[in-house]
Amino acid sequence: MRTPTTSRRQFLQATGLTVAATSLAGVRARAQPRLPGPPEKKLGFAIVGLGSLSINQILPAFAHCRHARVTALVSGDAAKAKTLATAYGVPASGLYSYDTYDRLKDNPDVDIVYVVLPNSMHPEYTVRAHTAGKHVLCEKPMANTPQECETMIAAATAAGKKLMIGYRLRYEPYNMAMIRMAREQEFGKPKVILCEAGFSIGDPKQWRLNKQLAGGGSLMDIGIYALNAARYLSGEEPVAINAFSYTTPGDVRFADGVEETINFQLRFPSGILANCVSSYGVGLNRFRVHAEKAAFQLEPALSYSDLRMQVIRGGTVELRSLPERNQFALEMDHMAECVKGNTEPRTPGEEGLKDLRAMMAIYEAARTGKTVTLNG
Ligand code: NAD
Repeated sequence: MRTPTTSRRQFLQATGLTVAATSLAGVRARAQPRLPGPPEKKLGFAIVGLGSLSINQILPAFAHCRHARVTALVSGDAAKAKTLATAYGVPASGLYSYDTYDRLKDNPDVDIVYVVLPNSMHPEYTVRAHTAGKHVLCEKPMANTPQECETMIAAATAAGKKLMIGYRLRYEPYNMAMIRMAREQEFGKPKVILCEAGFSIGDPKQWRLNKQLAGGGSLMDIGIYALNAARYLSGEEPVAINAFSYTTPGDVRFADGVEETINFQLRFPSGILANCVSSYGVGLNRFRVHAEKAAFQLEPALSYSDLRMQVIRGGTVELRSLPERNQFALEMDHMAECVKGNTEPRTPGEEGLKDLRAMMAIYEAARTGKTVTLNG
């Protein structure tokens, strides 16, 4: 019987646990904790525009970043900025209004400015950040016109700073896997790509339904995901575009002349054809590639989380799952790593410009009813 004076060894022998204890000791010896290396230097981000994307997605994503931290906030609402600064540990010296924005140049804790404003404001706030000597991550769509995109790219070049567009799906594991499956021809050559992106838009007063602020309707906001996916899944640039749009007459949401639904077809140089849909009238959330031997798809394809992949072959559907990752953390870490390593972002300003040129062609095709050809 065990007494308080029984040694640990005696107790183990008496209870026949010696062997187990010896091997446990071995496990303990092998599982010595390894000390971490020095922390990665995280680059400082200023978030410009504290609307729903910044508050619900971007600011919470910093907790998942390895290379990025939030060091400044820019807002027209000082009280909101102060509340968020307290929540995310941003010092009072990192709070700016749109009027004091240019003073970011004097803040050494800000390396990268993330522009999360209505579309029409992207060019001005990107160029001003570059002028202040900062790198810029700008939300999609890059701007409302290709000419503005060119001005933004020129400003980045003149400043010798990076410009990246926030195409979060280009950093998301399922979309990356779709790209690899298409490019490596896992199921033979891709022939047809179907991309659908849409949601039913609410408040008629929001900036997304103001043509001057948004630059257009569903295509500029959500259809851009379908276009971008058709381009990254094919790995090519479209050479011919057809389009067809429809807006419900009398629907107060579209009174400013922004389109509700727009369908577009893209022909790529290799012969891949893409059918795409963009809508503010119905929910659409799927990218599918039909290759010679199978079809593979994401549905949902563009949500912030819980994407699903299916491979459809003959009569079977195979589900493939990947670890969930925070898309905004991946995107911001990529930007920070590009700055640290002086490498070109995967989605630079030129990528945003290509989408803007294609979107202008889509609008022209819808307006004229004619096929618009591009240089590819
Ligand atoms: P939002 O309306 O929720 O926020 C916009 C912010 O800009 C608000 O804080 C508003 O106060 C501010 N603002 C400053 N000047 C303004 C003006 N003149 N009119 C209206 N607002 C003004 O919009 P959001 O959904 O956060 O979108 C912001 C940007 O992010 C857009 O370019 C949008 O396309 C993009 N976005 C990207 C994703 C994504 O998944 N990558 C998702 C949503 C939005």
